[in-house]
Amino acid sequence: MKSGWVERDAQAIVDRYARQGIGPDLALRIYTSRLLGREPKLVLHGGGNTSVKTKLRDLLGEEVEVLCVKGSGGDLAAIEPSGLPAVRLDRLRKLRARAALSDEDMVRIQRENLLEPMAPNPSVETLLHAFLPHKFVDHTHSTAVLSLIDQPNGAALCAETYNGRMGLVPYVMPGFALAKLAAEIYESAPAVEGLILHKHGIFTFGETAEEAYARMIEMVTRAEERLARNRSAVFETAHVVPQAVAPLAVVAPILRGACSAKDERSEGAWRRLILDFRANPAILNFVNGAEVARYSQAGVVTPDHTIRTKNWPVLLRAPEDARMDSFKRSVQKAVLGFAERYKDYFTRNNARVGSIKRMLDPLPRVALLPGLGLFGLGRTKKDAKIAADIAESAIATITDAEAIGRFESISEADMFDMEYWSLEQAKLGSAEERPLAGQVAVITGAAGVIGTATARAFTAAGAEVALLDLDETAVQAKAKSIGGTAFAARCDVTDAPSVQAAFDQVVEAFGGVDIAVSNAGAAWQGRIGEVDEEVLRKSFELNFYGHQRVAQAAVKVMLAQGTGGCLLFNVSKQAVNPGLNFGPYGLPKAATLFLVRQYALDHGADGIRANAVNADRVRSGLLTEEMIATRSSARGLTEKDYMSGNLLGREVTAEDVAQAFLAQALALKTTADVTTVDGGNIAAALR
Ligand SMILES: [Zn+2]
Repeated sequence: MKSGWVERDAQAIVDRYARQGIGPDLALRIYTSRLLGREPKLVLHGGGNTSVKTKLRDLLGEEVEVLCVKGSGGDLAAIEPSGLPAVRLDRLRKLRARAALSDEDMVRIQRENLLEPMAPNPSVETLLHAFLPHKFVDHTHSTAVLSLIDQPNGAALCAETYNGRMGLVPYVMPGFALAKLAAEIYESAPAVEGLILHKHGIFTFGETAEEAYARMIEMVTRAEERLARNRSAVFETAHVVPQAVAPLAVVAPILRGACSAKDERSEGAWRRLILDFRANPAILNFVNGAEVARYSQAGVVTPDHTIRTKNWPVLLRAPEDARMDSFKRSVQKAVLGFAERYKDYFTRNNARVGSIKRMLDPLPRVALLPGLGLFGLGRTKKDAKIAADIAESAIATITDAEAIGRFESISEADMFDMEYWSLEQAKLGSAEERPLAGQVAVITGAAGVIGTATARAFTAAGAEVALLDLDETAVQAKAKSIGGTAFAARCDVTDAPSVQAAFDQVVEAFGGVDIAVSNAGAAWQGRIGEVDEEVLRKSFELNFYGHQRVAQAAVKVMLAQGTGGCLLFNVSKQAVNPGLNFGPYGLPKAATLFLVRQYALDHGADGIRANAVNADRVRSGLLTEEMIATRSSARGLTEKDYMSGNLLGREVTAEDVAQAFLAQALALKTTADVTTVDGGNIAAALR
């Protein structure tokens, strides 16, 4: 592993922080923490931690000796001074004399001794840092080191590789007991440059930031060199991988459906997960291996992965293109089997700890598919990506471990203690779930005013959103403005292959579709007795068939998932109250109103709801500022009076339409509904 240390950069960061009144100790601590955090072979998603012992002034202005240590759940790659809360060091060191210390007391004492009362909780490994005497202490979950020590003979391999330069700490769960044991092992051989924590990771230390960091790089390099020697070939490919593997867009909704659970709080509600797919030669080599059932199910590569991936992935059958029915059954069976195994694991271990824990959901967070690749699963796209990143890293670790020996994890009891450790679960945060969490919403015409407002409203409600539009540049810009995991793709709803391709892309990005907002439309005009048939056909192509194509593509995915769904249509008041010379627009919209009812009727039994919004007079691409000016002056009205020309005298906005779609998406007992969003128009009121 190459060192990322650049003297010039180190000096620049010292100078920069000096201008903010932050000393060189903390500045250099930030510099090497970021170097470690930016290397995924060392640190992934909140893993690893670092510290520096220095002097700071407390709130009364008195200088005190402190440990600045990473906050729990923080990210080393982007760490700032506030991410390294300062704790009074003499108080932490006093704890060494205790025989035992509960986790709750440990957290309380650490918080009591923070210099800044609002600082985040210090890392769960704070005491380990505090009990070591060195000024700088670095800790990572290096994949190379893990490959070396996640072995039945890990201790011997470690001794051979480090030749006394590193101490070896037997596996103990993080917390007070590990901190004491690590300090004792260091003190028994004070010449060591760091500690290997068996089946967990590596600590290095030094008097300067550069020394601790350089030792980390050197010790990781030694592990890499050992892994490069005497390798055996991994893995022999199994003969069960079919020639024709089904495409991702067909496989993902089947898996997603199988990994959904009925939400008991409301009939018709589901608890769904979002998917993140990965495939590359290393992943395929791993999942196609003849012994994948052994090494993939052996446990986590380092304990804190368990909160993201659970202890083992669900291993599925290869998806053979010609046999999707039997594949679907096999996936359902495998996921049920996973859940049973998880419940047994929970029950067994919960009894051991006195039945005090509450079971987390028993659904997998990683799925392996021979012939195809792997999926990370999570309640959000972000969580699914984290699970997939960790699974990919675990594959690299296990592959190297198997190349020089045999991968071995910690015991099931140790994994349980970690997964159900309150301090680990706290890293995931306790934010209240939003009403559309776990759902994927597709919106057509999403570059338009109503489409974008709808995408924003659904994002705010917790859904993952996919914005589709004919104008790819515009819709990419809209997705970017929404930010996060918002996805955009080009889609011409008048072209069936384009609709299918766009839905495939959405399914590949999120794993499926739960809500389709069929919003794309455009207005044509013409006096019906004289209008050219071509105009009428063009309008039908977009304002009727466009909706049908989108709904059909969505239903196909929803049926594969088997968890219901919701179709929402932007119909317009023209469907019930024709405007003068607006026949070419109103006629297909009237047909679309009946399309909504047909979907509600034909697919109600599948749990698929179909609802419509009839909006009127909204500033948008259909009703431009120029049109508003012309029409209001033709009627002798101000623009404001024209736009508010309804029973309530209030202008209808795109946000009002978006909120109506959202309400329909949330109303699980409502289908074939038409919601008017027009400020009141008796002629357009439905019977
Ligand atoms: Zn650790």
